[in-house]
Amino acid sequence: MTFPDLPAALADALTQRGYDAPTDVQAAVLEDEARGRDLVVSAQTGSGKTVAFGLAFADQVLDGDGHVRPAIAPAALVIAPTRELALQVSRELDWLYRPAGGRVATCVGGMNPSQERRNLQAGATIVVGTPGRLRDHLERGALDLSALKAVVLDEADEMLDMGFREELEEILDATPEGRRTLLFSATMPRPIEALARRYQHDALRIATTSGERGHGDIAYQAVTVSPSEIENAAVNLLRFHEAETAILFCATREKVRHLHATLQERGFGVVALSGEHSQSERNQALQALRDRRARGCVATDVAARGIDLPSLSLVIHVEIPRDAETLQHRSGRTGRAGKKGTAVLIVPYPRRRRVESMLRHARINAEWIDAPDRDAILAKDRERLLEALLQPVEIEQADRDLADRLLAERTPQEIAALLVQAHRAKLPEPEEVLANTPEARRADQKERHRPGFEDVVWFRMDIGRRQNADPRWILPVLCRRGHITRNEIGAIRIGPQETHFQIPRAVADKFADALRRTAGDDENGGDLHIELSPEAPRDVARRARKGGKPGHGKANAPFVRAKGGPKKGFPKGGKGPGKPFKRKPKPG
Ligand code: AMP
Repeated sequence: MTFPDLPAALADALTQRGYDAPTDVQAAVLEDEARGRDLVVSAQTGSGKTVAFGLAFADQVLDGDGHVRPAIAPAALVIAPTRELALQVSRELDWLYRPAGGRVATCVGGMNPSQERRNLQAGATIVVGTPGRLRDHLERGALDLSALKAVVLDEADEMLDMGFREELEEILDATPEGRRTLLFSATMPRPIEALARRYQHDALRIATTSGERGHGDIAYQAVTVSPSEIENAAVNLLRFHEAETAILFCATREKVRHLHATLQERGFGVVALSGEHSQSERNQALQALRDRRARGCVATDVAARGIDLPSLSLVIHVEIPRDAETLQHRSGRTGRAGKKGTAVLIVPYPRRRRVESMLRHARINAEWIDAPDRDAILAKDRERLLEALLQPVEIEQADRDLADRLLAERTPQEIAALLVQAHRAKLPEPEEVLANTPEARRADQKERHRPGFEDVVWFRMDIGRRQNADPRWILPVLCRRGHITRNEIGAIRIGPQETHFQIPRAVADKFADALRRTAGDDENGGDLHIELSPEAPRDVARRARKGGKPGHGKANAPFVRAKGGPKKGFPKGGKGPGKPFKRKPKPG
């Protein structure tokens, strides 16, 4: 399918750009029934929606000959939620309208307002901006909306989510009655419907399948890991894919800071984008990604809105998105405009159910796999190295001479090995992630019946098989929470709803103390409730068979307190695991 009849200047701009066929949403807004009407369009990022609204308001901006109408004030206004998105939109509209003589002015928070005022005064055909800054210019009289013919609300749902309703209403109220209102939104919650009712007339609804087309270009994977191995998994995913550009999403700016530091420490060229960065830092970060000085970007959801990097082929959800929409928005940073992309979710074991339901909700089929381990990464490295080094090459005479001198001193094999080493030296080391195989788990369990575990205390935690409890992720969590090493954890018994494990009595105090201090440290499993078990698991089983009540006369040891004040430490006992604690007979 080709673009329908378009003004020559716009058609030229598209051809120059190499866009010879409209995307679904572009075709839809150019249909006869959409011409001149208000529109409510649900279209995802990556669907070509910017060019879509750019083409949609052509009739309002250009005259019959396809040139920009001479006007004293802007003919079209685009409002977008973030600086990056606004700048991205303005770049797109600039190449689209420049051949027709159009001028685009931007008004975005964090940029120089006086410069923006001068640009507005110089006469702009199209103004693109963020709600707050546009309102400022409007209130100060720098933005004249009296001649406006079309207004676009881009990512309207996001703008409302971010609390821009008042700004939007103030701007819309300042536009002339007869203007067209085009509302673009990935989702259509009630406040969007209300906005549409208030500011649109007889709007045509367009829901293209381009969102799904977008998904078709993205392969989804989910890797399950222990909550304490999330960053290691992120490192290994970066190393496994070696994407040209990758983006790693975190839920908070603190996590962005931490992961950014971790990756830098390991030698990755990464930048960070979060609310704590100034506009100039953000610009520098994006520029580093564009000119490939950096290949990874660690970002929060809001900070990454509007990023459009054609080379971005890998999205890693380091922390799981809060809902299906965020999942789609984040993932939509890749697989853009027909390119292939991969989106990987790092899922802590206890969250698997939640993620499965989110994926179902978004109708996404993800492949559940293990985090790539060292061997898999090294095998990939070898493949990539061979491919890179076996490409045809052009060699200058000076380099040939150098090669001859090397060959006189070393064998070809040595030289080739040195070349491989030099390439490999640039690659950060993979991290250790626990293997997800029955053998590895059996070996791990066997290792636990060893000296030092003659006298132990049983603890329990409030998750079991139903919550995907598994030694693979429980072990590292216990180490983080209890400040002990794996070697200090004995047998682990996983029941349907809870899990018991042994800690040598000698370190149990220290363990319990660290547990108290790390409760609430969500990142390291601080939301799990871990406590001294009043009984050993076999007693639990026996009780279950007898139908008894928990804790009757089968205590391990009092946690810290006995009658008469706090009792320090775990009473010494020689009878091995789960030594019953004799309760004091009740008086009377
Ligand atoms: P958007 O959904 O507006 O963020 O656009 C995603 C990307 O698709 C941008 O890089 C656009 O330049 C590109 N694009 C827009 N229209 C087309 C088209 N008809 N063919 C190919 N790429 C396009």
